[in-house]
Amino acid sequence: MIKAGILGGGQLGRMLLQAAANYPVETFILENDSACPSAHLCHHFTKGDITNFEDVYNFGKGLDVVTIEIEHVNEDALQKLENEGVIIFPNVAALKIIKSKILQKEFYKAIEVPSGEFVVTNSKTDLHQHTNFLPAVHKIAKGGYDGKGVELMHTCADFEKGFDAPAVLEKMVDIKKELSMIIAVSQTGEIVLYEPVDMVVDQRLNLLSYQICPAVIPENIMWKAEAVALKVVKEFKSAGIFAVELFTDQQDNIYVNETAPRVHNSGHHSIEACYSSQFDMLWRVMLGYPLGNTDHILPAAIVNLVGEENHTGEAEYTGLKEVLAMDNVFVHIYGKKMTKPGRKMGHVTILSNEPQELLHKANQIKQLLKVVTK
Ligand code: ADP
Repeated sequence: MIKAGILGGGQLGRMLLQAAANYPVETFILENDSACPSAHLCHHFTKGDITNFEDVYNFGKGLDVVTIEIEHVNEDALQKLENEGVIIFPNVAALKIIKSKILQKEFYKAIEVPSGEFVVTNSKTDLHQHTNFLPAVHKIAKGGYDGKGVELMHTCADFEKGFDAPAVLEKMVDIKKELSMIIAVSQTGEIVLYEPVDMVVDQRLNLLSYQICPAVIPENIMWKAEAVALKVVKEFKSAGIFAVELFTDQQDNIYVNETAPRVHNSGHHSIEACYSSQFDMLWRVMLGYPLGNTDHILPAAIVNLVGEENHTGEAEYTGLKEVLAMDNVFVHIYGKKMTKPGRKMGHVTILSNEPQELLHKANQIKQLLKVVTK
């Protein structure tokens, strides 16, 4: 049986393990928190630090394939493992580019896909040389996640909020839509695309509020988005699953924001909404099976379930029974013991042929279902 390792045991690892249950594969998780959402679902749990060379190398050395649920992993250990024949998804060359927002932006420029104009800054004081970039977005090169590591800058006074570390300063795009394209690449180079997802961002938390798939966009924008995302993924020259996040502006220009080389929040609807989910698809890629069918069974919306403001402690879910009683609604609770404001604790998928029903139920669920403390 193929031995497959996942670096990180959060919700993405958990959903990958749920999909792995359909396949002949022995699963291994490396994660520091032994109470993490994945611990009891894998065959073998190793407590360890995914950013530590020894921990990652020792974890991976007996395995056939290794994937990640987060980019912040020790790339040197993965490089050594890759050199020794372990297949890493994504490959380490692609991971190295994606891990740094500077290298990522330079990559998009080099392959000539549209992405916001940017300059590299190394310290907060550098920002003052780039007042012509305002309004802008400052993004830390390494370690950002879920909007942490991103600061919006409207005036020079905002430079104070800037990062005193390598970062990119990007011209602000007047965003009309945030789209995500999930794309899978097999080990033999076969490629399949999921339909575009429309991500509606909560401006306050800088976190996905809800998403709709397929995105309601004109066909010509959809073709453009697909072509751009496909080019990005082809140029990474790696098997795996990728989420290419794109913006459109008020003139319907397309920009690549960033790429995640892994299963992604914007693809969670695919568990119920598509014939082959993003999690199923990654196993097909890693185990060398034919790729699955990305078509939708029904259009979907997703609501992320995040920890309420002012609630830090052991999690409790209010409104769960009411939401579980709704038709064509699927609740995923990730099994994290502790909640804190903005923490991703679960998601809910809604299926319907009626766009109005998707939105109505999404709003209803946001009102009903809350993560609070006991
Ligand atoms: P993260 O990797 O932490 O998710 P992103 O680069 O995706 O960070 O940025 C988080 C959010 O900030 C985006 O979803 C978008 O709403 C906003 N944002 C990022 N870049 C720009 C930009 N160039 N112009 C306008 N808004 C942006």
